[in-house]
Amino acid sequence: MTATTRLILFGGSFDPIHNGHLAVAQHALRALNGRQLIFVPAGQSPHKIHPHTAGAHRLAMIQCAIESLDQAVVSDCELSRPGPSYTFDTIRFFKEQTQDSAELYWLIGADQLDDLPKWYRIDELLADCRIAVMVRAGYPTPDMSRFEGAFAEPIIAQLRRNIVQTPLVPVSSTQIRRSLMRGQVPQGLLPDCVIRYIKEHGLYGFKQST
Ligand code: ATP
Repeated sequence: MTATTRLILFGGSFDPIHNGHLAVAQHALRALNGRQLIFVPAGQSPHKIHPHTAGAHRLAMIQCAIESLDQAVVSDCELSRPGPSYTFDTIRFFKEQTQDSAELYWLIGADQLDDLPKWYRIDELLADCRIAVMVRAGYPTPDMSRFEGAFAEPIIAQLRRNIVQTPLVPVSSTQIRRSLMRGQVPQGLLPDCVIRYIKEHGLYGFKQST
């Protein structure tokens, strides 16, 4: 009997992708015993105002950041879909792509957990994939008892089973954008190729001091 392929999907604005994303996603890939890690940059995240940077730039930065990672790829499925980037639609897209033969996991950081019951078609989404929650520096340890009454007991049990104890990497894209805006390149938080890309394209208001 062959084991089911397990795909680990990691969605977000990635504006820009940072070393926190890379560290936690690689850890989750191993912890969940995934075959492949698929970064899915959002076109228009329903959870955020607007990405600061065009999708093509965010995609290019992810591509260079994951170049040396064997099991990682990036998908432009949300970027090429008009309208809000609902996870529900993305999971349906991957179900179709894999002819429903893969186990799909969707990674989120602990900071996203509060809003989960409000996600678009959440009950169907939870039937179609497993949400795996990664711990995040600065946020409480995920406590699924908050969902009692909102989700059925087997779903809550599944959410509990899929908490991933990733390393705590205290970094966010917001913090990086703020530094770049001030003309500072944050040290140790971005892959070198992403720093080069940002400088080359003058992203995030970054201006090199002469
Ligand atoms: P911003 O500061 O712009 O809100 P962000 O750093 O949270 O961005 P996103 O691209 O929004 O980055 O994140 C994509 C996913 O990665 C989200 O589920 C988020 O919770 C998770 N994530 C981002 N950074 C970390 C981190 N340092 N540790 C754990 N999870 C993270």
